[in-house]
Amino acid sequence: MSLVHELDQVQVLRNRIADLEALLHDKEQELNQERQNSDRKIRTLTENLPIVLYTIDTEGTVTLSEGKGLAKLGSTPGQSVGQNIFEMYKDHSESQKWIRKALAGESVQSTMSLGSIHMQTWHSPIYDEAGTISGVLGLAIDVTEQKQSEIQLQESHNLLQLVLDTIPVRVFWKDLNSTYLGCNRLFAQDANFATSQKMVGMTDYLLYPDNADAFRADDVKIITSGKSQLNFEEPQLTPDGKQMWLRTSKIPLRNIAGEIVGVLGTYDDITERKQSEIELRESKNRLEMALDGAHLGSWDWDLNTNRTLFDARYEKMLGFEAGELAGESPTHQSEIHPDDMPQMLAQVTAYVEGKSNDYSAEFRTKTKSGEWKWISAKGQFVERDANSKPVRLAGVNQDITARKHADEERETLLANEREARREAQEALRMKDLFLATMSHELRTPLNAMIGFQHLMLFSQQLDADNSHMAERSIANSQRLLNLINNILDISRIATGGLKIVPVTMSPRQLAQGIGTDLSFQAKEKGLNLNVEVADNVPDSITHDEERIGQIMLNLVGNALKFTEKLGTITMRLRCTNERLVIEVQDTGIGIPASQKHVIFDDFVQLDNSSTRKHQGAGLGLAIVKRLALLMQGSITVESEIGMGSTFVVTLPINLNPESYQ
Ligand code: ADP
Repeated sequence: MSLVHELDQVQVLRNRIADLEALLHDKEQELNQERQNSDRKIRTLTENLPIVLYTIDTEGTVTLSEGKGLAKLGSTPGQSVGQNIFEMYKDHSESQKWIRKALAGESVQSTMSLGSIHMQTWHSPIYDEAGTISGVLGLAIDVTEQKQSEIQLQESHNLLQLVLDTIPVRVFWKDLNSTYLGCNRLFAQDANFATSQKMVGMTDYLLYPDNADAFRADDVKIITSGKSQLNFEEPQLTPDGKQMWLRTSKIPLRNIAGEIVGVLGTYDDITERKQSEIELRESKNRLEMALDGAHLGSWDWDLNTNRTLFDARYEKMLGFEAGELAGESPTHQSEIHPDDMPQMLAQVTAYVEGKSNDYSAEFRTKTKSGEWKWISAKGQFVERDANSKPVRLAGVNQDITARKHADEERETLLANEREARREAQEALRMKDLFLATMSHELRTPLNAMIGFQHLMLFSQQLDADNSHMAERSIANSQRLLNLINNILDISRIATGGLKIVPVTMSPRQLAQGIGTDLSFQAKEKGLNLNVEVADNVPDSITHDEERIGQIMLNLVGNALKFTEKLGTITMRLRCTNERLVIEVQDTGIGIPASQKHVIFDDFVQLDNSSTRKHQGAGLGLAIVKRLALLMQGSITVESEIGMGSTFVVTLPINLNPESYQ
C-alpha cells in the first residue's frame, strides 16, 4: 500500500472522527437540551406541586432541596443545601430512621407529622455508576388536607356511631343476602352481643331462627321492589326467650350509583306500649262486659262545643242504630220529658257549681219509636282546662223503666194497704164507740131494775115462789150487768179510755175483804176459800185498788166456778223480788196445756158447747191480763187436768202516780 493511499486513509479516518465528534457534540447538545428540559420539567413540577424533593449524601448533608411544599415547612428551595439532615431532624427520630434505612439500601414509605402538617414521604437509596450507595433521594408530599378530611371523616363516623348508639332506636343494615353488615349498640344488645362489631357477618337464621323466614321475606320484598316498608309492628322472640314487640321500618340500602346493595332497618321496642295496649284492651273488654251486664250506656259531653258522644249501647237502649245520636246535644233536649227537664238541669247546675259531689239525675227520654223510657244518669268531670274549669263531663245512663214501673205499682199497693188499714182502724173505733155507748145505755136501766128487784124481795110481800123468782131475776140481772161491765172495760182498754188511778191502799185489807165477800158463794158450793197474806206485804202501798180488786175477784170467781164440791181455793199475797205477787190456787178441773195460751184472748171459753154448765162470756182473763199489763205487771198460769190451776199475777209493789196522770 502506498503512502498516499495510507495518507488518504488517515484523512478519511480523520474526517470520520470529525464527523463522529460533530455527531457527539450534537448528541451532547441534544442531551444537554434534554437534561435542561427534564430539569425544567422537574422544577416546574416541584415549583407547582405541594411536594418537597431532596437529596442527601451518605453523610447526611443535604445536596438538593426543591419544591413548593418547602414553603409549608418555612423553607425556600436550596435553603437547606449544605445542612445536615440528622442535625435538622434531631428531635424527629422516626425520620432519621427512614433515612438510615434508605442509606442501607431500603426504599421506605411513611407518613410524617410535623405539628399540624402531614407529609407522605418516600426515601430511596441513590446508586453511583459503580453501584455503590451515594446518597438518598427523598420525596415528601403535603397530605395535610387529605389527612384533615380523613380526620373529619373519622370524626363524623364516630359522631354517627355515637348517634346510632345513643338514640333509643335499633338500627341495622344488611347486604343482599340479609347478612348483617353493621348495627348500633342497642341492636347488638338485643341479640346478646357485647359490641355491634360482633354482629357483622351474622344472619337472622343464626340469631332468630323462629322469625328468620319472615325477616328474610321482608328483606327480599324491599330489595326486589326497591320500596320502603315503614312503621309496621311485629312480634319477636329474644334469644333468651322473651316476647318482644317491635315497630320496624326497612328501606333499601343503595350505593353511590343508586344500586340496591342491601337493607337498612330501624326498629324500636314497643313491648311496653303493646303490653299497655293489651291491658287497656282487656280492661276495656271487662268494662264493656260490666256495662252490658248492668244495662248501662255511656256518654261523654264536651262542655265547650256542647256536643255529646253516646256509645252504641245507649243508642241501642233507645232503639237507635249505632252512630245515630252522634254529636247530639248533651240532653238531646227535645227528647227529654218536659216535666223532668228542670230537675235534670238543676242537677247539672248543682254539680257544675260544686254543690254536689257528682252529677246524678233521673228523667224520662223518648225512644226512637216515641215511647218514654226512665233513665238514671250519673257522671263526673273527666277533664279541666288550665284554669281548672271543667271541659268534659262523662258518665253512664241506665234504663230504670222497669224499676220505675215496679215503684209505681208498689206505691199503689202501699196506698191501698194504708187505706185498708185506715178503714179497719175506723171500723174498730166505731165498734169500740158502739160498745161503750151501748154498754152505758144498757147498764143505766139495768142498775135501776136490779134496785127495784131488791126492793121487791125485801118488801116481804112475796110468797115463797115469787121470792124465788125475784132472786133468780136479781141473779140474771147481775150476770147481765157483769157482762156489760166486762164489755165496757174491754172496749175502754182498747180505746185507751180506761185509766189506772193509783191511790194509797192496803193490799191485805183488799184481799181479805174479797175473801169475805165470796165466802158465802164458796160455802154454798161446798168449797174452802182461804186468804193468806205474807208478812212482807206492806200495810200501805200506792196502787189502783179498784183494778187490783177486779183482778182478785175475776181469778177467785173463776176458781170457784171451775172447782167441784169439797175443793179448796187459796188466794196468797206476798212480795218477791220487789214485786207484789197475787197467787190464786184451786183444786179444780184444770186447763189442758195446749189451751193455756188462748185463755187470755177475748171471748175464749174452753167449753163453748151449748150444754156448758158454767156461766161467763170469756172476757174475765182477757181483762185481767190487760189490767196487769197496764200496771206494768204480768200473768202466768200453771195447771194440770183434774188437779187444779194456779194463776200468778205479778205487779210493781207501788205505782208512780205521775206515770198515770
Ligand atoms: P169466763 O167468763 O168464761 O170465765 P174467762 O176469761 O174468765 O172467761 O176464762 C176463760 C176460760 O178459761 C174459761 O171459760 C175456762 O174454760 C178457763 N178457766 C178460767 N179459769 C179457770 C180455772 N180456775 N180452772 C179451769 N179453767 C179455767
